[in-house]
Amino acid sequence: MRVLLVGGGGREHALALGLAGDPAVEALFAAPGNPGIAAVAQLREVTPTDPAAVAALAVEVAADLVVIGPEAPLVAGVADAVRAKGIAVFGPSAEAARLEGSKTFAKDVMTAAGVPTARAYTCEDASAVARALDEFGAPYVVKDDGLAAGKGVVVTDDRAAAERHAAECGRVVIEEYLSGPEVSLFVVTDGEAAVPLLPAQDFKRVGDGDTGPNTGGMGAYAPLPWAPPGLVDDVMRDVVHPTLAELRRRGTPFAGLLYVGLAITPSGPRVIEFNARFGDPETQVVLALLETPLGGLLHAAATGTLGAHPPLRWRDGAAVTVVVAADGYPAGPRTGDVITGADRAGIIHAGTRRDADGTLRSAGGRVLCGTATGPDLAAARDAAYALVRDVELAGSHHRTDIAAAAVDGRITISG
Ligand code: AMP
Repeated sequence: MRVLLVGGGGREHALALGLAGDPAVEALFAAPGNPGIAAVAQLREVTPTDPAAVAALAVEVAADLVVIGPEAPLVAGVADAVRAKGIAVFGPSAEAARLEGSKTFAKDVMTAAGVPTARAYTCEDASAVARALDEFGAPYVVKDDGLAAGKGVVVTDDRAAAERHAAECGRVVIEEYLSGPEVSLFVVTDGEAAVPLLPAQDFKRVGDGDTGPNTGGMGAYAPLPWAPPGLVDDVMRDVVHPTLAELRRRGTPFAGLLYVGLAITPSGPRVIEFNARFGDPETQVVLALLETPLGGLLHAAATGTLGAHPPLRWRDGAAVTVVVAADGYPAGPRTGDVITGADRAGIIHAGTRRDADGTLRSAGGRVLCGTATGPDLAAARDAAYALVRDVELAGSHHRTDIAAAAVDGRITISG
């Protein structure tokens, strides 16, 4: 199988490692890729959000499967353009990707499908915003309706800050605050059959103890020792299958990766958001534990044959990833700084570039992450932090408490 992977962040590096490790994958191309991906794939130049360009590249490299990593190409219709060339693609159509591209659309689907989620209003002017904030009270949850790379959500007790965010975004979804630990559940689907991966937890806030602004994600771990028994089965029954059925009913079946972001509230799991692709950085830990060859799994989802795919096999133990972010991230990351200590197994590249002389430099807000597995969560955590300690990048920062509460047994679902 010849595979073209679209994207160039940490998620795509993790996907590339998984695909390269599948004996059925005889050639792997990545566009645009990054210096980490370059070690396992042939890199090609492309604008990932240009449907015609990606489709032409897929034809040029004679791809049997195209795997689309990020959300922006999906929303732009890249999967549709590749499918129109008769090439199998892992990633939903633009129509189905609206599940991520529009929070209003996602709420609409959830309501129609009876999926448990926060009550919400879509608001387009200040008086509607004020009414919704009054009704739900603090903490206020205000979400940009469109794609915002994980940074369009403000959760705050500060009413003025909530109103300011709403005014800046224009059209927003304002919703009830959901309390409880968060879970990211990735589901591989061909539109009908659906296979859950291991649940993971990520860390959205920039600072230790969940302080500071939201980010794209500062770390993750899997599996979740504190997850209620039956969680995955319940979410498949109450969330995933009803959502997939509703999208089929609308004539826009969702095939690809359905990312279910949940809050485990005292009254049960509630959907915080859907995404239409693998999450970053949870992908790094989930795929580190997946033993089943990745290419075959994604190909089955892309070709409508997932129902016949054998059950997934997982490695024992746990995985942890810790993101190293650039000085100034998330507000205004500084780029171009030299990175040393990063050329080793377990370092996943996210925002890096390499000079002609081989020097590695920062090229984004989240620069790289240290990903490690271990016989248990504590061992995986120690190994991930050991990787990060050896990386030098001026001004960089990382959280020191990734997976700490889970290791210490401090996560509870209180009533
Ligand atoms: P989203 O982009 O919708 O995932 O939101 C980003 C983050 O904001 C989530 O991971 C949560 O930590 C937080 N968040 C979003 N919606 C809610 C909610 N209704 N209640 C509590 N926290 C929320």
